[in-house]
Amino acid sequence: MNQIEILEQVQEFVARQHGHFINGQYYLDQKEPRIDITNPATEKVIATIADGSATSVEIAAKNAQDTFKNVWSKMSPYERGLKLNKLADLIEVNAEELAQLETLTAGKQINISRHLEVAQTVIFLRHFASNTTKIEGKTIQPSLPSMQGEQYTAFTLRQPVGVVAGIVPWNFSLMIGAWKIGSALSTGCTIVLKPSEFTTLSVLRIAELAIEAGIPAGAINVVTGLGLTGQHLIDSSSVQKVSFTGSVPTGIRIGQQAMQNDLKRVSLELGGKNAAALLADVNIDEILPILIQSTFVHQGQVCAAPERIFVHQSKYQELVTKASAVLESMPIGSPLDPSNVFGPLSNKPHYEKVKYYLNLAKEKGQILTGGEILDGEGYYITPALVKVDDVNDPLFIEETFGPVISVIAFEDEDQLIDMINDSRFGLAASVWSNDMSKVMRLIPKIEAGSVWVNMHTFLDPAVPFGGMKASGLGREFSDAYIDDYTEIKSVMMRF
Ligand code: NAD
Repeated sequence: MNQIEILEQVQEFVARQHGHFINGQYYLDQKEPRIDITNPATEKVIATIADGSATSVEIAAKNAQDTFKNVWSKMSPYERGLKLNKLADLIEVNAEELAQLETLTAGKQINISRHLEVAQTVIFLRHFASNTTKIEGKTIQPSLPSMQGEQYTAFTLRQPVGVVAGIVPWNFSLMIGAWKIGSALSTGCTIVLKPSEFTTLSVLRIAELAIEAGIPAGAINVVTGLGLTGQHLIDSSSVQKVSFTGSVPTGIRIGQQAMQNDLKRVSLELGGKNAAALLADVNIDEILPILIQSTFVHQGQVCAAPERIFVHQSKYQELVTKASAVLESMPIGSPLDPSNVFGPLSNKPHYEKVKYYLNLAKEKGQILTGGEILDGEGYYITPALVKVDDVNDPLFIEETFGPVISVIAFEDEDQLIDMINDSRFGLAASVWSNDMSKVMRLIPKIEAGSVWVNMHTFLDPAVPFGGMKASGLGREFSDAYIDDYTEIKSVMMRF
């Protein structure tokens, strides 16, 4: 074992008595219960955070509202962009510290924390920074009648909705937190983030860095806690919009709560049961490394990662044999050891959930390889390939969000499309083939917000991302998110 050294500043940060981050400073209410933060690689409690009450949430939301009205919405778009870019600079400067915090709390392999999470956070923030000066309305010529030579014109203004509640899951808390910060701040909104109770620390650190970057106190606030803290945030009359990333059941509850709060704006980025379709012409040797990598990155705990593999029957056996060999040779162990490619699952409840699905598969003799629970400390499960013959199998229907992929053979493309679309989810899918005529005919038929060809799970800030069906409402990135964070005001003039 060759684990990296934990930086002194990381040790100091972890050891702090963490409070909320409100109006540019830590806010600690000694009466609030504490929540343990556990390192999933060791099962040791490494820190505690506050379980935020309605009172703390209200203080944060009120500060965000004051800052929205009096400071951030009045700042020039150019200046807002400069400040977001400065935050991106500071994330680069503090990259190793942030990467280590993610690895310690989420069990993310250190190279993934460094080169995917932190590096992509910087790239995404710079994209949002570049959008601040590109938020536009339009001019319109109305067709109203002119009796005495009067004329009309109309234009639209795009105005920030106000305070955003950004509710973040545990799998990529730093990056998803930064997506919400970038979306809100680039459109002139302010934000109160509620990170996951499992992975709160990196989000608290970003809020601190934002102050160093010159982002006004109160523009980015963080309240920590369980789901109830998120509910208080949605209920706050100072919050105008909810931006949620997480599971479908929580998303539905949040959507209902937002509607009950006088139709509070809501965007939902939810789960998936993503398909990868391998057509008859695929070269298994060529595609396997990239397919495995996109499937098992961060132990498969990626919303867009494939969980259902459809392979043409002529390539089924070759895929199963070769994929099993790759999975069996994957180095598994401490995420702080850069030579491992596979680490622990991120938290105990999730580990139990994945074990439940693996037990179902074991009982029915479906495991082709992997799915072993490793002895000793840490939530380690070896990456699993599971055979599914029936599309009604729970492993084919429900999101496991873990290192478990189901594989099924198909005969022709009509059957393939029916099976892919036979799902309540519609987040992402991929088609693997060099027969571009077939691929181009399949793409419009697939019910998913993103379709990749000969790749999977890659996100880019210039390309919109979001779910169809139960996988979500709204789109992130590009300029697609701007609609969700702004209101259109129509102005009509007679002259
Ligand atoms: P989750 O739904 O359990 O929790 C997400 C967040 O919501 C956490 O901060 C949690 O504390 C909070 N929360 C829980 N109940 C709440 C309530 N009633 N009101 C307000 N907040 C509440 O999800 P998770 O287990 O943290 O994350 C995994 C899920 O997230 C998976 O389903 C995954 O697919 C999804 N996800 C989606 C995307 C995407 O972009 N589509 C990205 C990452 C993860």
